[in-house]
Amino acid sequence: MSVISALLTGLATGEVEIIDLTAPLSPDTPVLELPAPFANTIPLSLEVVSDFDDDGPAWGWNNIHTGEHTGTHLDAPVHWITGRDGYSVDTIPPSRLIGPAIVVDVTAEVAENPDFLLEPVHLEKHVAEHGPLPDGAWLVLRTGWGRYSKDAAAFANVDETGSHTPGLTPAAAEWLAASPVTGVAVETVGIDAGQAASLEPPFPAHYHLLGANKFGLTQLQNIDRLPTTGAVIIASPLPIVGGTGSPARAFAIVPA
Ligand code: MN
Repeated sequence: MSVISALLTGLATGEVEIIDLTAPLSPDTPVLELPAPFANTIPLSLEVVSDFDDDGPAWGWNNIHTGEHTGTHLDAPVHWITGRDGYSVDTIPPSRLIGPAIVVDVTAEVAENPDFLLEPVHLEKHVAEHGPLPDGAWLVLRTGWGRYSKDAAAFANVDETGSHTPGLTPAAAEWLAASPVTGVAVETVGIDAGQAASLEPPFPAHYHLLGANKFGLTQLQNIDRLPTTGAVIIASPLPIVGGTGSPARAFAIVPA
């Protein structure tokens, strides 16, 4: 049996399952809010072109208004100053968007401390238990944060000192940038922690990973349904020419 036939048989028999990792995209989908003086992107809105009316009696359609980095989305290397010479979202080879999901679970640590930052020791422990990170893997940071995704205030978790959400230390970002992963996949609004502006370098996941021509995949849901290893993630951003990112549909292929 060819590998494609085996996959299709697995899907038909239920031995293989497709899990949607994508957050619904609506005007309520949380978007990153940077403090002044920085500019911000816009949330999603739909502008009706026709709705089975005089503007289109047999058809409905809308214009979409939003930023490249809204909801579940991919960060392309050109999003960051360190990655300016790397891929824009349209030039990423599709093979780099599909890869094994390697899940590092820090749900317990994040429940204790929303500012939790992954360190190299967590990655080294994972490698010791599960083997080296495979080429082209999506390193999935399982934080449990996805459970807040329907509550914008809890999701952003802002107080007078800013946003408090988990992420990576500069050392972990550097470690992953030097590894064979294709990118980092997270449940939070971005691949860096809420307090990452105060790290050195600021926003180290963006700095190191996008600077190494790798990717970010954000605001994922259903991460609790992924096995530690053995699943495959498919990310499908729009090929916006010159785009720094794109809303994306993301799926996992998982053994049932
Ligand atoms: Mn982004």
